[in-house]
Amino acid sequence: MTTSAATKTVLITGASSGIGEATARRLAAQGHRVLLGARRTERLAALAKELRHGGAPAAHRELDVTSLDSVQAFAAAAIEEFGRIDVLVNNAGVMPLSPIADLRIAEWEQMIDVNLRGVLFGIAAVLPQMRRQGGGHIVNVSSVSGHRVDPTAAVYSATKFAVAALSEGLRQESRDVRVTVVSPGFTRSELTDRGGSAEARAAARAAAEQLAIPASAIADAIAFAIDQPANVDVNELVVRPTAQG
Ligand code: NDP
Repeated sequence: MTTSAATKTVLITGASSGIGEATARRLAAQGHRVLLGARRTERLAALAKELRHGGAPAAHRELDVTSLDSVQAFAAAAIEEFGRIDVLVNNAGVMPLSPIADLRIAEWEQMIDVNLRGVLFGIAAVLPQMRRQGGGHIVNVSSVSGHRVDPTAAVYSATKFAVAALSEGLRQESRDVRVTVVSPGFTRSELTDRGGSAEARAAARAAAEQLAIPASAIADAIAFAIDQPANVDVNELVVRPTAQG
């Protein structure tokens, strides 16, 4: 572990796998204090324990980003554990892909609840504390699908375009809080393990197997944005496999 002078308290949603887990490892290795949140608490507990063994201050809490109460309790836990909130990485996300005509309405609602409402709840839970502290940083994990639309990904894209819009609005309204959107392309994770139509899931998996970059590549981008000086706001990073069209 290398400890820099600017160690921060970082809250990470969706830290139980994929990009969130890799981000927790990356930031903890730099000496940042991390609070890990997700629903699969046994995974979080194991990861937090491993990070603590490596010398990093790490804690975890059960978190469901679709519940404002749960997200507010997560923010309160950061204050309780570490006394402040410097960075929120709004990473939790779901991607059950399917054509609109399939009318998988429960999955549309889930994407809106996790990918969009969850990000808004995260902002609501930490912004007052960041303003009290006179600074902070919100990192929203969007997607290449926040820049382009593809068949079977219309609703997913809609949530990610919305994250880009609200991030830009928050940035314009903020003079003390930095706002970063990180947009990954195909990245190795568990994102295609759940939900969506069988055909769409198989196609996404095949593409990911062929192209995907490690989750650590996205974690590196997030760490880069976090580690800039307070007056430098990296607003957008798109990180995708070189071979992705
Ligand atoms: P994973 O499926 O590996 O990770 C998703 C994380 O979100 C898990 O930790 C999961 O934890 C958490 N999560 C899901 N629902 C909830 C919820 N209701 N409350 C709290 N946590 C929740 O996928 P990725 O690591 O790939 O996904 C991370 C982000 O990256 C997402 O926003 C995704 O859209 C984005 N992304 C990923 C790409 C890729 O190719 N992998 C490409 C572009 C963007 P748990 O189930 O334990 O709650």
